[in-house]
Amino acid sequence: AGELDPADLFEAYRAASAAEDLGALSWVADAAPADLAALREQPLRGLPLAVKDLFCTEGVPSQAGSKILEGYLPPYTATVVQRLQDAGSSLLSKTHQDEFAMGSSTENCAFGPTRNPWDTTRVPGGSSGGSSAAVAAGLAPWALGTDTGGSIRQPAALCGIVGLKPTYGACSRFGMIAFASSLDQAGPFARDVTDTALLYAHMHGRDPRDATSVGLPEATVLPTAQRLDGITLGVPKDVERDGIEPGVRAAFDAALQTARDLGAEIREVELPHAEYGIAAYYVLAPAEASSNLARFDGVRYGLRTEAPDLLSMYTRTRHDGFGPEVKRRILIGTYALSSGYYDAYYASAQKVRTLIRRDLDAAFADVDLIVTPTTPGVAFPLGSKTDDPLSMYLEDYFTVPFSLAGVPAISIPCGLSEGLPVGLQLAGPAFSENRILDAAFALE
Ligand code: GLN
Repeated sequence: AGELDPADLFEAYRAASAAEDLGALSWVADAAPADLAALREQPLRGLPLAVKDLFCTEGVPSQAGSKILEGYLPPYTATVVQRLQDAGSSLLSKTHQDEFAMGSSTENCAFGPTRNPWDTTRVPGGSSGGSSAAVAAGLAPWALGTDTGGSIRQPAALCGIVGLKPTYGACSRFGMIAFASSLDQAGPFARDVTDTALLYAHMHGRDPRDATSVGLPEATVLPTAQRLDGITLGVPKDVERDGIEPGVRAAFDAALQTARDLGAEIREVELPHAEYGIAAYYVLAPAEASSNLARFDGVRYGLRTEAPDLLSMYTRTRHDGFGPEVKRRILIGTYALSSGYYDAYYASAQKVRTLIRRDLDAAFADVDLIVTPTTPGVAFPLGSKTDDPLSMYLEDYFTVPFSLAGVPAISIPCGLSEGLPVGLQLAGPAFSENRILDAAFALE
């Protein structure tokens, strides 16, 4: 009694989604699932879910933002989506993204850009910008994204919501259209930390179909911490000179003061190699992408451009099907992996990755969590960085080191700058999701 009928709730979100004009959604269900009444008995109570386009969903378009996969209907569902459905959530919508998750603004989407609901002249961040915009605009109570170098945390920050990148291996990658397999992780978006934890609790776990999935050693518990007594937060020493906009810096400083007021101790940590994170990432991620994207050949999936012979069919299909950023990454990645250049680029980047992981191991021996602004700035105007890939890549300056190390990190809202949301990133050692969620709950 007094409970919302999940069918009414689903229909309300469905109607809002069908009418949205942010360019956030690539597909919307045309009716509630037939088994909604049964889902109601499950822990997630039939609540609707928005899912990033790159998760395979059986019989539902799964295009990874790419023309090469336009209209692709997978014959199976990604493990994390299936787990959430088994726990009682219902698939409401698929969300737009940067093509193959390459980008920080959702402008690299073959089906048009997504707009930020706070200011529709601005980007929602990316690559999971459709998911973050959908949650921020109330088109879904929560959503799934993926994070390779920042693609959950950065759009969460720019849309004023919560987004968690799990420990690498906590969640199965089975059925996620791959970008950079040693970095890709699925994770939740929600409007607050409790909902984020609730969705996450039903996502992780070992999956025999993903050999890199290990699950988590403990169940996710809903956060309860009111204070941060006994918690030590580390602030990277160089955060001062890392090109942060003044309004973001002010919001970050206010968040540190709140943390102190709640009993946390703030300490400086040294991460001497973190500044090389972006350079290493933009060798490693394109290298892995160039290999993962070899499967799009016009034979097995999606688009095929007819041509007189097989080789020209491959090249014409890839010419027509991939957008400019994807081509740029394939070129960089193929070059970095070529014989004669491998040691100079790929092997060096792997060494930097190890050094960053060691920096973080040393830091986490001294502090419980590391805090940074999630991004150097707030949501930027559409088009303002599209001709400048390097400035777009710097969006991930604070998020990429934790991706390279495979450790978990969350972005939570921490005030406004110029009327736009600012994100606070909290990162911890591998498998410390419960600690991160608890601290984020106390701070939100
Ligand atoms: N913005 C980064 C990139 O373009 C990260 C993307 C992601 O995490 N998927 O690669």
